[in-house]
Amino acid sequence: MSIEAGTLYIVATPLGNLGDITSRALEVLSGVDTIAAEDTRHSARLLQHYAISTPLIAVHEHNERQASGALIERLQAGESIALISDAGTPLISDPGYHLARAAHEAGVKLVPLPGPSALTTALSVSGLPTDHFCFEGFLPAKQGPRRKRLEALIAERRTLVFYEAPHRILDTLNDMRDTLGEARPIFLARELTKSFETLRLTTLAELCEWVAADPNQQRGECVLVLGGAEERPRDEAPPEEALRILSILREELPLKQAAALAAKISGEKKNALYKYALEMEKEER
Ligand code: SAM
Repeated sequence: MSIEAGTLYIVATPLGNLGDITSRALEVLSGVDTIAAEDTRHSARLLQHYAISTPLIAVHEHNERQASGALIERLQAGESIALISDAGTPLISDPGYHLARAAHEAGVKLVPLPGPSALTTALSVSGLPTDHFCFEGFLPAKQGPRRKRLEALIAERRTLVFYEAPHRILDTLNDMRDTLGEARPIFLARELTKSFETLRLTTLAELCEWVAADPNQQRGECVLVLGGAEERPRDEAPPEEALRILSILREELPLKQAAALAAKISGEKKNALYKYALEMEKEER
């Protein structure tokens, strides 16, 4: 593969197992003028393993904004640069967004080299629905904001994917159980592609107990894949708040209009509210 001058390559690297690098990534990392890495000492180990001696410069979350300007100048002067992060795909909860954006704006050519990401690796083996999912990244570190974020996700039907630091895993799982219920399905993917890889599909209640009982599960890196909220059975009553809104509007408006407005305000389905109210009115007559 020939390396193009003035091009920014976004290169995915292994999550842990050094064998998980593509031959194209190795060609690019050997052939570019410079590699921009999140932690140069960490990436030096990967490069050493593959006998790659391309010079490294540091681009991390604390210097990315300033470093981007200089890197764009170098790209415009014809240098080829590869961006890598410590593990997985750059920009996925990792630095690179400002640089990639600046490159687009400056008319610099970008080339992505796909490869591992903890997000897709965990999802691929989770056994939870993957046709639609939300990537939530890291939850807030403090309990108050973390619970608030989880509360905002209670009704989310899509599978949810979270990254979490090992020292917060137990607190986060306990907050998920208290906010979203004990029975929610959850999949823990720990130390993916490494010697102590752990995969467990269970419920929030069981996972909280299991992780609490085994300190080894509170070490290493992990992804949590959470089942989405279940759809309400067809004949189940809409939530009380939606019914309260509907009954206020019904005092002033025809049923159809009241149901449509209540649906807009509450986020519930118009037809479900209309059907439910119709049945209630029939019963009252
Ligand atoms: N850019 C990376 C990617 O593509 O997955 C993610 C970087 S983010 C700063 C680091 C988080 O990714 C970790 O806290 C963990 O949640 C997840 N992660 C990275 N490597 C992992 C692994 N081998 N096993 C499980 N989770 C991992």
